[in-house]
Amino acid sequence: MVKDTKLYDYLGVPPTATDAEIKKSYRKLALKYHPDKSKDAKDAEKFKEISHAYDILSDSQKREVYDRYGEEGLSGEGGMGPGMSAEDLFSQFFGGSVFGGGSRRGNQSVRKGRDMAHALKVSLEDLYKGKTTKLQLTKSVICSGCQGRGGKSGVNTTCHTCSGTGMKITMRQLGPMVQQIQQQCPACNGEGEIINEKDKCKKCKARKTLNEVKQLEVHIEKGMKDGQKIVFKGEADQSPGIEPGDIIIVIEEKKHDTFKRRGDNLITDVKINLVTALAGGNFHVKHLDNRVLNVEILPGEVIKPGEMKTISGEGMPSHRHHNNGDLLVNFIIEFPQQNWTTPETILALRSILPPAIPVSPIPDDVLVEEVVLSSLESSNNQGHGHHDVDMDDDEDGSHGPAGVQCTQQ
Ligand SMILES: [Zn+2]
Ligand SMILES: [Zn+2]
Repeated sequence: MVKDTKLYDYLGVPPTATDAEIKKSYRKLALKYHPDKSKDAKDAEKFKEISHAYDILSDSQKREVYDRYGEEGLSGEGGMGPGMSAEDLFSQFFGGSVFGGGSRRGNQSVRKGRDMAHALKVSLEDLYKGKTTKLQLTKSVICSGCQGRGGKSGVNTTCHTCSGTGMKITMRQLGPMVQQIQQQCPACNGEGEIINEKDKCKKCKARKTLNEVKQLEVHIEKGMKDGQKIVFKGEADQSPGIEPGDIIIVIEEKKHDTFKRRGDNLITDVKINLVTALAGGNFHVKHLDNRVLNVEILPGEVIKPGEMKTISGEGMPSHRHHNNGDLLVNFIIEFPQQNWTTPETILALRSILPPAIPVSPIPDDVLVEEVVLSSLESSNNQGHGHHDVDMDDDEDGSHGPAGVQCTQQ
């Protein structure tokens, strides 16, 4: 059933006419009413109507919209339907509800499929040197047996259950209310069309797509960073009538044992012992490209614990620039073990090292107490008890609770 037969009437054909019949009738009428042949104003008007009718009925998409909604369903022609753009109508017909999550690009009515994101763990070495890696993934591709039609051309028929909308609307009585439920049409799985069992494509069984294993060559460029994206345009799942989305590879930088990254700079801890810190020497840093950096500390340079020094240009390559960041060295000074040497050596050290800072004198009226310095672990193990004494320091103990007698002097 069509909503309006006006355009068919203009061309003198029934709404069931084939494309060929429409074309044939149009040619015949157009020749008859063509302004070159007739100077009659009425004929000119008729010619306009025929052309307008043919313009719509010869376009299968426009014809479908016209059949369902009449001329008001067509934008540009008879004006747009109230609150409904032609695009909305089209998406209703051509699977708008089937492929949810897609997005439109600009003003085109080509629907875009979903983008697929993959995290790719990359070592700091590979981000330093750059690398090409292969990534294997399974994706849907348009069936080559039926070009995504599901069967031979022309075997698809409009689903009768949903009249091609792909949606089934059911009413449900809920007390005094009637609830309207919209579901995917079960007869056509929301496709809006049906293919007879015998006409189904053997290759995809009318699913229209097949799974394919695809290898992508991912070029990890020098200096790429955590979270950076590599986009493969249109490589995501294919689906009939839809522009495939993109595959997006997201770089995930792996933690490194020796280096931390801060922008284009690298940070590494370097342990040196006290004599090197004071008297100079050298240390090695094995770099991400396996080079060994030999670094010299000059005698007398004096490296302090926790001090940072920088080695220029030995950081990460800056992505798409030709310079490198810096390598920051965080020094950890290893001191000698306890009782590492003889009293004589210590005496000698006193004479060599800068003199100790003199302690400031304590005034006579200040009580001086001799205390013992011990390492943390041993002081925790020792008993408490001292606090009890301190509490009643300046009393004779008479106010203290019974049993606690502090005697001083
Ligand atoms: Zn197929
Ligand atoms: Zn259906």
